[in-house]
Amino acid sequence: MAKIAINIATGSLQQDEMIVGIDLGTTNSLVAIIHPESKMPVALKEYDSSSLVPSVVHFDTNGSVVVGAEAKKFLLSDPARTIFSAKRLMGKTYSDVKGNAASLAYKIIDDENRLVKVQVGGQFYSPVDLSSLILKELKKQAEHILKTPVSKAVITVPAYFNDAQRQATRDAGKLAGLDVLRIINEPTAASLAYGFGLHKDEHKTIAVYDLGGGTFDISILNISNGIFEVLSTNGDTYLGGDDLDNAVVDHWIKKYELSGTGNEDTHRRVLRLKAEEAKKELSSGERYESGYEGKELSLAKEEFESLIRPIIDRTITSCTNALKDAGIEKTAINEVVMVGGSTRVPLVKKMVSDFFGRQVNDSVNPDEVVALGAAIQADILAGNTKDVLLLDVTPLSLGLETMGGLMDVLLPRNSKIPTKAARQYTTYKDGQSGMKISVFQGERDMVKDNRRLAEFNLTGIPAMPAGLPKVEVSFLINADGILVVKAKELRSGIEQSIEVKPQYGLTDEDVERMLLDSMTHAKEDMDARALTEAKTEAEQLLQTTEKFIQRNFKELTPQELQDTSLAMQALQLSLDMNDKNLVQAKTEELNAVSRPYAERLMDEAIQKTMKGNKIDQV
Ligand code: ADP
Ligand code: MG
Repeated sequence: MAKIAINIATGSLQQDEMIVGIDLGTTNSLVAIIHPESKMPVALKEYDSSSLVPSVVHFDTNGSVVVGAEAKKFLLSDPARTIFSAKRLMGKTYSDVKGNAASLAYKIIDDENRLVKVQVGGQFYSPVDLSSLILKELKKQAEHILKTPVSKAVITVPAYFNDAQRQATRDAGKLAGLDVLRIINEPTAASLAYGFGLHKDEHKTIAVYDLGGGTFDISILNISNGIFEVLSTNGDTYLGGDDLDNAVVDHWIKKYELSGTGNEDTHRRVLRLKAEEAKKELSSGERYESGYEGKELSLAKEEFESLIRPIIDRTITSCTNALKDAGIEKTAINEVVMVGGSTRVPLVKKMVSDFFGRQVNDSVNPDEVVALGAAIQADILAGNTKDVLLLDVTPLSLGLETMGGLMDVLLPRNSKIPTKAARQYTTYKDGQSGMKISVFQGERDMVKDNRRLAEFNLTGIPAMPAGLPKVEVSFLINADGILVVKAKELRSGIEQSIEVKPQYGLTDEDVERMLLDSMTHAKEDMDARALTEAKTEAEQLLQTTEKFIQRNFKELTPQELQDTSLAMQALQLSLDMNDKNLVQAKTEELNAVSRPYAERLMDEAIQKTMKGNKIDQV
């Protein structure tokens, strides 16, 4: 098994082909490589510009798309068409993010149980689409700088990303024309860049403190024999450099009496840029001075530090929690590694070093460290770094067939073994008593293009409405590479299982061919998947609306009934046109028609229960 895994990582690579490392960040993204001559990791940049590409996408009304520094300029002038922080939406449903939706200047589709999409004009974009646009730009810039095609990459993700979010990141890579050889954890990449874990005999426990633009993560890692184990992660997905800027803005607004002057929003927008400038200047200087509307703006370092201390205190609380979750004392930490642009702030370094009781390690550029580590991992996969232990991994992804013939990956390619993964599924029809569990191997999005490994039926599910049964399917691969698939209905406890040899009958050449296939068909696959998903969603909405109308017929006005019926017909018709955007637009229209009365009936129902309660209590 190990042999095959290494062959896959190296065998399909041409000698001179570059594998790049990519930090796909919430605020900034960048690409790094191992320099062919110096053999050192370096971040790619155009002559005299920054290596950082802001993770911002702007869609012009004429259909043109710009990414990076160019797009960032539109944050002020055209916020509704300028998307930032898309990484936060990765693998999330609307109900996951609605608490913070108000802080976004762009529109997200508000349907509780579906994956979030961003609406710009009449177009809908998933976080995968948006991330793929950023990756495309990074690929383009890298190719321009390196003057060679770039098609293989290692991409980093936060340690807390779940399977769905990792898979979404892979999909974004595919869509951008990149073969994602591996997804690695950001703190693991940072530790690699600091040089830890490059020697088999190294045993260390490391704290990685990562304060970026809008997120904070603290991870505790154990490194031994070249294996990185994340012991715990903690943090706050809404805490970062932006909060430092906002604290300064609030302070200035108060100090210079700019509130209530009618155009406070405009003040804030301009002042936010100045605040970031001040923050950066105070990372090396003592005082910031500038002018604004005839007033002299200033900020002394001490003033700044007293403003931000409470914010940094919150990161320290997370550090305490991470240590507790890892079950270790501060003194067990051998290194504290600093990552993220905001760790340039001297007070951050001081407070973190005070907390851990040791000097922090800030010897690597905090903006670039994650990408540099990804480049090192890429080099390991290319077979150039020999002194790191490679683990046994699964050569191809393993997954299940879901609605519409889609491949749902439970164990991505290159998962190290032994390993296990589980996911919950539910029924599609009311009273459905059986569920077909079909196990597939391969990288294509439609199961018909992959290899069927096994199939069995979970039978005897008690009659329940569609969506209610909870069927947990688990994959377990033991050290010999035998896959055991189990399915269990959690409400009734019925279960079934089967053993599969995932490699049976598959030669190295087969594996290679399947990988190549998946690269050539990546774009097609993404389109087919997006269309199938849109259609499945639409069909479900049609069914639930139909049921709702039957049940609540009397409560609706003739106008409402007519509008709904028209919107349903339009959606039904759109299903045959095979156009994803059309299906989504018609789905959204039907939602728009039905939402008001659905909410009204819900409110009435709630009011009735409330009344009931009161009577009960008297
Ligand atoms: P992310 O990981 O979220 O993509 P980064 O690690 O690139 O983010 O960090 C971006 C943040 O770092 C921004 O808030 C930016 O203002 C801040 N930053 C960059 N340089 C400095 C500096 N010299 N001093 C203080 N903060 C800085
Ligand atoms: Mg980062």
